[in-house]
Parts: sequence; C-alpha cells; structure tokens
Amino acid sequence: MQGCREEAGDREIGLFYSFKYAKYQCRNIMIIKCKKCAHILSETESGYILSVHNENAAGENEDGEICETVAENAEVFIHEDHLPEWVRAEVEESQWTKGKLKCPKCGLKVGSFDFVSGTRCKCALNSVLPSVHFIRSKVDVKS
Ligand SMILES: [Zn+2]
Ligand SMILES: [Zn+2]
Repeated sequence: MQGCREEAGDREIGLFYSFKYAKYQCRNIMIIKCKKCAHILSETESGYILSVHNENAAGENEDGEICETVAENAEVFIHEDHLPEWVRAEVEESQWTKGKLKCPKCGLKVGSFDFVSGTRCKCALNSVLPSVHFIRSKVDVKS
C-alpha cells in the first residue's frame, strides 16, 4: 500500500509531528454501508479494496482497451485476507464455497462470494475476479 511509511517515523525520532503525519497517511479507511439501513458493513483500509484485475488497476488490457467490468464499476472487491468479521463468518459457514452476502441488520442482498469456480472477467484478460464483492448499487462507499 502506497503512502504507508511508518518507518519514516523511526528515522525522524523527535519530530513528533512528522511521525503523526506518517501515521495519518496510513489511515486511509474506507467505510462501506448498507444503502437501505446504513448499517456499517465494512471498515477497511482502502488498500484492501481490490481492482478488478488485481495487478492492473488501470483496467486496460495489452491492446489498451478498457475492460468492461472496470468501466461498469458495479462491484467493490474486498481482499479475502481482510474480510469483515461477519463476511468471514458467512464464508466459513459455506466452507469456502459460494454464497450471498446479506446485510446483517436488514437482510438486503449487498454482495456475494465465490471461492469455487470464480467469475471470469468479460474482457480479453479473462482473469478470475476477486472472490468477495459488494454490489456498488446496494452500498454507500465513503473514504
Ligand atoms: Zn441493511
Ligand atoms: Zn477485465
């Protein structure tokens, strides 16, 4: 994750304000709320929000074409090692297969996960999309 340079604080011991600044840089928290009831579904560092192709944040393939999935921007992908507690519980209950994510408070379908086959991207890269996502139209994302 870029901008997270805590070591800068160690090199500048005594300069409290710069250490504090370095810390501040790290705290780029993204809040995902249910659109219906505003229940907080996820509070995660924005670095754990993945792009469609993981390594290709710009969303262009080798020919410079923009990926449809990136352009639609319909999903918010979460890093599977940094899932919110309740999402992790759902995934574990399914024994790491697939399922829907419903808001724990109001039951609105807010996302899904698939650790079985995975969904492939529509674009030429045809890469497997990250396994867990929220549906952007069902949530409010604030950073
Ligand atoms: Zn809700
Ligand atoms: Zn794509």
